[in-house]
Amino acid sequence: MPFVALEPATRQSRLAEASRRWDALLAVRPDLAPAIALQRQLIGPVVELTDVIEHGRLPRLSLPPKYLAAKLARGVPALAGEPIPLPVAVLKPTLLRLCEELAAGGAGEAADHIKAALDETRMDAGSLLTASLARDQQAIRTGAAQHGLAPDLVWLVAELAVSPFAYALQQTLFTPAATDAALGAALAGWTGGFCPACGSWPAVAEVASGRRVLRCSFCAFAWELAGYGCVYCGEEGPRFVTAAPDAQMVEGRKDRRVEICNACRSYMKAVDVSELSPFPLVALADLETMDLDMAALERGYSRPPLKNFTSRR
Ligand SMILES: [Zn+2]
Ligand SMILES: [Zn+2]
Repeated sequence: MPFVALEPATRQSRLAEASRRWDALLAVRPDLAPAIALQRQLIGPVVELTDVIEHGRLPRLSLPPKYLAAKLARGVPALAGEPIPLPVAVLKPTLLRLCEELAAGGAGEAADHIKAALDETRMDAGSLLTASLARDQQAIRTGAAQHGLAPDLVWLVAELAVSPFAYALQQTLFTPAATDAALGAALAGWTGGFCPACGSWPAVAEVASGRRVLRCSFCAFAWELAGYGCVYCGEEGPRFVTAAPDAQMVEGRKDRRVEICNACRSYMKAVDVSELSPFPLVALADLETMDLDMAALERGYSRPPLKNFTSRR
């Protein structure tokens, strides 16, 4: 069963776990203090919004399990190409707040400009959030350029602000897989290294009880692949290597590894955990393993760009 249900989480449990993990990270990596401080400021509003969405009666996407199963069988993520009504009025305040937090946290004027463009509706929040949910980097780059805004920052604030809704959608769409045979089978047969819900790549693999669970960097979906190979290109041969500490990839710790692929020159991080991270704490797992990114990047490996599903139906 490659679909791994997350333990239920609440606003309080998410914040408590995040706080504990930031403190632990700060203790071993005091040099990460500024990054941790900024992540605290950004994750807070995302947790609050997640709570609002979970307790609200917001429009949800309803796709019949049979339709979804057929789509997944074609290798297309569930949300790709679907017209999805967004609760913009609920998401926009968080979007603006994230701009403020980024401005205060070091991005300065570049983030202020984004907030001003949204405030004055020169840039439409609904279009921006829709493009982010569709994982349409090109649309966001074009929109940012039109308004003279920093594209990476626009991408970041939009992604953070819409991610609680993406998480709620994936929960709604895939929870029936536990009882619907066709959808369950389609998810079990999913062979993509990209998220079957939204199409994003995993941020990390969380290895729990020997199960390598991929964690979507956007919607936090948790899934396993039948084979053990490169999540990006599928390589399972000798060109796919899990680098252990004695390979000098990472010093000292055996509970964290880098999977490197010499077929596509990409890498993915894997970390042993006792419990999977709740949404939106996959971002913490990413920050906690930043030294693995450095090790892989130094050796010439990278993470590939998002796959583009915007023209596929
Ligand atoms: Zn996803
Ligand atoms: Zn590969």
